[in-house]
Amino acid sequence: MKHRNFLSIIAILTILTSCKAPADQSAATGPDPEPYAYALVLHGGAGNMNFQNLPEPYQEKFNLALDTALQLGLDVLKGGGKSIDAVETVIRYMEDNPLFNAGKGAVFTSEGKNELDASIMTGQDLNAGAVAGVTDIRHPISAARAVMEQSEHVMMAGHGASVFAEQVGLEIVDPSYFFTPDRYESYQKAVEAEKHGTVGCVALDRDGNLCAGTSTGGMTNKKYGRIGDAPIIGAGTYANNATCGVSATGHGEFFIRWTVAHQISVLMQYKGYNVEQAAKEVVEKTLVEEGGDGGVICLDRFGRAAMVTNTSGMFRAYGNSEGEHLVAIFK
Ligand code: ASP
Repeated sequence: MKHRNFLSIIAILTILTSCKAPADQSAATGPDPEPYAYALVLHGGAGNMNFQNLPEPYQEKFNLALDTALQLGLDVLKGGGKSIDAVETVIRYMEDNPLFNAGKGAVFTSEGKNELDASIMTGQDLNAGAVAGVTDIRHPISAARAVMEQSEHVMMAGHGASVFAEQVGLEIVDPSYFFTPDRYESYQKAVEAEKHGTVGCVALDRDGNLCAGTSTGGMTNKKYGRIGDAPIIGAGTYANNATCGVSATGHGEFFIRWTVAHQISVLMQYKGYNVEQAAKEVVEKTLVEEGGDGGVICLDRFGRAAMVTNTSGMFRAYGNSEGEHLVAIFK
């Protein structure tokens, strides 16, 4: 396992360092690469992580969880499933896993409650759904999908979102479900190391359709009622078959104000950047200049990934139809 993780990290570093943006951005418009039949990228949050605040046993737990989530999503795509099903499957798994700041194990507001945000978007029709500030829906990502597919709205919040979720048959839980005292104690160190901890996934299916989704408990100690970037289409989540799918994690206020996910897509659409160049431009230049910590995972229409963070680490994983399978934590 350790050996495999080490190889994975090396492989990711090789990919990331081999994708330097050329000085002349028009050079990005070369011939299209051979597309992968399917591909999937995911994250479990970005933050300032190091070997001290994220000791090896925790790294192993995260690596295992990321690997499991990746495999679940790839299995859906391999079997011809839709990208939206892969994204929902991956995020539901991560929402149930208390290691991550989404669903069970979400961080707390200043009032000591869990308020969850999630969104999903499909690239073939720019359709989207989101829920914000929900306290009792077990799988916020499924509620976001239901808003997209079963209502005429894009975003629903709070109590109304819960009533709707129940009406469409989603599982409603007591708010205490999200709080796991034992787990919380034992994972506090890891969570501290990774203060943000949102989860997200982007998938490309055999039909060439991209889907992106994001789910979070928000930022630790956020003020009650605060909504972050995760449920905001164009900020924390975006998907467009013409360009890419994006899921973000980090200091949400910055991602909202700089419409990070949409900006990455726009750089590809109007400036001809490739996905790596676009993600780096926004995350490593714009956000760094403005002081916004965080990262993104992106997948373009060929199934190529960009996993870019301006923090020292981001839990992430990538796989595709050619058998590439990468899991990494540190930058
Ligand atoms: N972006 C999320 C928020 O601001 C937090 C995170 O990604 O960790 O709510």
